[in-house]
Amino acid sequence: MNDPRRRIPRTDQLLADPRLTRAGRGLRRDAILPAIHQAQERARAGLIAPEDVLEEAISALPDVSTVRAVLNATGVVVHTNLGRAPLSDSAIAAVVRAAAYTDLEFDVDTGRRGPRGAGVIGALLDQLPEGTDAMVVNNGAAALLLAITALAGGGDEVVVSRGELVEIGDGFRLPDLMVSTGARLREVGTTNRTRRADYTAAIGPRTAAIVKIHPSNFRVEGFTGGVSVPDLTDLGVPVVVDIGSGLLAPDPALPDEPDAASALRAGAALVTASGDKLLGGPQAGLLLGEPPLVQRLRRHPMARALRVDKLTLAALGATLRGGSTPVTTYRGADPEALRRRTEVLAEQVGGRVRRHDGVVGGGGAPGVRLPGWAVALPEGLARPLRTGTPCVVGHVEGGELLLDLRCVPEEADVELAAAVLAAIAAGGP
Ligand SMILES: *Cc1c(COP(=O)(O)O)cnc(C)c1O
Repeated sequence: MNDPRRRIPRTDQLLADPRLTRAGRGLRRDAILPAIHQAQERARAGLIAPEDVLEEAISALPDVSTVRAVLNATGVVVHTNLGRAPLSDSAIAAVVRAAAYTDLEFDVDTGRRGPRGAGVIGALLDQLPEGTDAMVVNNGAAALLLAITALAGGGDEVVVSRGELVEIGDGFRLPDLMVSTGARLREVGTTNRTRRADYTAAIGPRTAAIVKIHPSNFRVEGFTGGVSVPDLTDLGVPVVVDIGSGLLAPDPALPDEPDAASALRAGAALVTASGDKLLGGPQAGLLLGEPPLVQRLRRHPMARALRVDKLTLAALGATLRGGSTPVTTYRGADPEALRRRTEVLAEQVGGRVRRHDGVVGGGGAPGVRLPGWAVALPEGLARPLRTGTPCVVGHVEGGELLLDLRCVPEEADVELAAAVLAAIAAGGP
């Protein structure tokens, strides 16, 4: 009569419980049921109290996310394999808001269709010289693709220095991308030196543009020379500048990194850039430049295929308006503060503290070292840390696993230490 199993909540009661509904976040009934049945089973077996069935069912709900969160302990701020820029809190909030219905292409004043993503364009133009227009596409490669297609895709020529025909990463070669549009590449100069006269001599009736590409992830040192944008803008053809990194204005900490405002002031007709490198936003491509040219790109049939979704627009807008981003914070992390956090971690897990420089990554500022520290641990811990929860990715070098806290949010230090201890306890070396 007094059987506690009679107090086990029924399936329909549990399904109707708002706490479970909330935790289930729209999961289908058939995805929730196994969690409920498992919890009821455990209560029937006397493993948990009937009062705990709801809690138990909630914690047994399936994780339907297909992405794994990673603690980036590599010291590489814009890590392409780890999704490049982590979004700022304001960008994350904007993405969550944009996940529902939004005014994406709707003018609330008139009740009619409005321009798509007008807010983001405004946020971009606020930070660029007067007389600039802007457009957002899927990524930096798409921005360059659209620009070259519209200008020279009919078989016209684009003039490029041989010193700027670069491969960015994972076999992605910018010259191949440009040729894929149907444009013809007119290479000028040599790998290490190109002069203004080389450009002048190459320009002819079929020249559609001069393209300047920032050679992002490598540097040519020694006997070198290139031609800067201002020295190319009076040759009678539009100059397209692919700055790569997405800095909108000069950054004193990265003196060799090109920025959009300077290129536009120097007379570039069009600047292309990524949204998720130094700009610190979502994956996106920016096209910034002379209004008639940007308008032409907007009307190009290919524009529709390269456009971005509402989540990207929301994240980019909030990144632009929100000021600081994790990319800026991690880049500028104070070495002393990093050393203190690193010492605490080393103390907790029994590792050795050593110097470890971070880098910008993502093809940005290749020569710049960001002074910092790491905890050195046996290399054998790298795999268990990667495959555990949370997933921790460090930097393996010279037979050691180095954990660099630069790109780990400080509030995750405790979680990181626990993950290392768990990996050691699980039979690590
Ligand atoms: C990164 C980069 C690109 C490609 O940009 P994605 O956003 O990765 O498509 C193109 N050009 C330069 C100079 C770059 O650095």
